[in-house]
Order: sequence, then C-alpha cells, then structure tokens
Amino acid sequence: MIRIFPLQTGWVKVKRAHQNFRGPEFFRLPSIMTDFRWTPWLPILCWLIDHPEGPILVDTGEHARISEPEFTKQDPVNSWIIRKLLKFDVSLDSNLEMALHRIGFKPDQIKHVILTHVHSDHTGGLSSVPKATIWMNSVEHQNALTHPKGTFPFHWPKSLQIKYPEMSQNDSFFGLSATLTSDSNIRIVNTPGHSEGHQSVVVTIDDLNYFLAGDVSFTEQQVKTMCIPGISENFRKVKDTYSQIDRFACAHKTVYLPTHDLESLKRFYNKTLYAD
Ligand SMILES: [Zn+2]
Repeated sequence: MIRIFPLQTGWVKVKRAHQNFRGPEFFRLPSIMTDFRWTPWLPILCWLIDHPEGPILVDTGEHARISEPEFTKQDPVNSWIIRKLLKFDVSLDSNLEMALHRIGFKPDQIKHVILTHVHSDHTGGLSSVPKATIWMNSVEHQNALTHPKGTFPFHWPKSLQIKYPEMSQNDSFFGLSATLTSDSNIRIVNTPGHSEGHQSVVVTIDDLNYFLAGDVSFTEQQVKTMCIPGISENFRKVKDTYSQIDRFACAHKTVYLPTHDLESLKRFYNKTLYAD
C-alpha cells in the first residue's frame, strides 16, 4: 500500500508580481523588484511517499537559518536577492527533521529524495538526509553548479549521491517520464517553465493520481486560467506545461498539489479533483 504524508517546513511570502504577473515577459523581473505588495504567508510543502519499496521524499523544504545573512553570505548576490524578494518564517521546530519526526519517520530511513527543482525552499532540508540518493534533473543540477539562481548548493552535504532520472520519451501527456519503483506508481514527469529542468511527481494510488507539482504554479486556478507567475523563467514553457497538466488532469482523476498553494492541504485531505 502506498501512503502520502504532507510535510510543511514553515512559510514564505513573495511579491505579488512574483506570484501573479500580467505583462510582457521581459518586464517580469523589474515588476517583481519594484512591487511593494506582499502575498499572505504561503506554505512551504514537501511530501513523504511511504512505498513498500521504501520511503521517498519529494523536496526537502527550507532551512531554518535561511533568513540569517551569515548563512548565505558565501553567495552575496543570491543572498541579497532572496532577502529582498522573499520573507521566510521557518523555525527549528518546523524544519524537515521535525516534520519527519511528527509523522514517525527518521531522516536515516530516507534513501531517496526526488527534487522538483533546486530553489532553496526545496533543497534547504538536504542537510537532514545526507545519506540519501537525490534524483534531480541534469540541467537543473548543472545550472545550480554553474550559475545558481535562488539556491545555495555549497550547503548541500558532500556525501549526497546525486543521480539523474532515466527519462524516456514514453509519456503521452508529458513526453519525458521516469519511474523509481517496480510498480510504476511513482512517476517523475517533465514540467519545465518555472525553471529549466523542473519536474513533477505523479503518485497513483488505486485510480487516483496525486500530482506533486512543485512550483509549476502557485495555485490550481493559475493552471486553469493560464495565469503565469512572474518568477517563471520561461513563459512559453509554463504555458505548454499548464496545457499538458490540464489535459492529463481532465482525462484522469487527479488531485493537483503545488508547494505554495494555501488550498493544497485541503484538496489533499478531501481528495478534491482538478476536474471538479
Ligand atoms: Zn521555485
């Protein structure tokens, strides 16, 4: 039997234009930088999939020290950007280790972590699972090492084994996909746009699909209305990804679960379908 546990490592606020943007793509960053309006506090979610072949974590949340300038000073540019454009509320009590503890898991039990992408609020808990194998997109990994944006790879433990999922061109909705389990009930699918190598995870339990969407969008409504978050790296790819998710979720029973959606937990527990 497969079970999914939502985990929350604190809260984040972003600028309104970061979350919702209407205008030409070239104007997205100036709009975010000059916007003085903040969103409400939004959750930073990650997910533990308890599978018979072993627990798999999807994303690791944010680090409790992210707001301390000292913690990120090794990369002054990203440090400045992240403190200027984001507000975090992550305490030691809400870090990954404590979140796992609350559902009865120990970090040592986690052998596999799938990263939707490398932004710090998805990789901040990697230091809690130093013995895990990390499955991330190869482009995402290379970008993090050569020109990191919103991520601090110098904090990733050296002991991590980083692997790239073997994506094959076998998915009629998303093109590329891969599976980590013999039953194919946990699939990694290609969902670029927010970042170049962004991927999502589809967990199938009976006839229901839980779409762990990372930062594809901030809300379900954004996919339905084709509304692009200003922080997206490539608007055209976001639109393509939205269309693919919409086609998939209208054809299969799907609960759509982005990382920062205030409604994600309610939809998860109520099994509210995208098509409803
Ligand atoms: Zn992100």
